[in-house]
Amino acid sequence: MWDITDNEKMKIEFKPELDINDLRRMKPKIVWLMIDFWQYCKEKNLPCLITSLMEDAPGRKSTTHVSGRAFDASARGWSTDEIDNFIIDFNNKWKNIGTAPLGKPPKAVIFHVTRNGEGEMISPGHFHFQVRRGA
Ligand SMILES: [Zn+2]
Repeated sequence: MWDITDNEKMKIEFKPELDINDLRRMKPKIVWLMIDFWQYCKEKNLPCLITSLMEDAPGRKSTTHVSGRAFDASARGWSTDEIDNFIIDFNNKWKNIGTAPLGKPPKAVIFHVTRNGEGEMISPGHFHFQVRRGA
């Protein structure tokens, strides 16, 4: 895995299949959010694994990734409380540069989880970070 680290607790990791050069093409403010997410993970000693940058994905409707305004991070290793607290704190701090469908309050981070027919989580879920057009 590609990582920037000077000790285990300061690690930001990227899934190996990601094109790290995307970071240079992404909008500056989404990169700010990534750095702030990394700081948050370091402070709380939580995993910081980036799972998606600008690449297209099957079934993806939103254009935020391909336009360099989004990234995803895994919530593996995070508890439900840690996820909930993070979403609240991070959106309070950054909602002004976040985005949303028309008529919905803007958000800088959304938690996504895949559930089966019984409503049980079938993955640890992931954070989708996004900034609005022109941010
Ligand atoms: Zn996403």
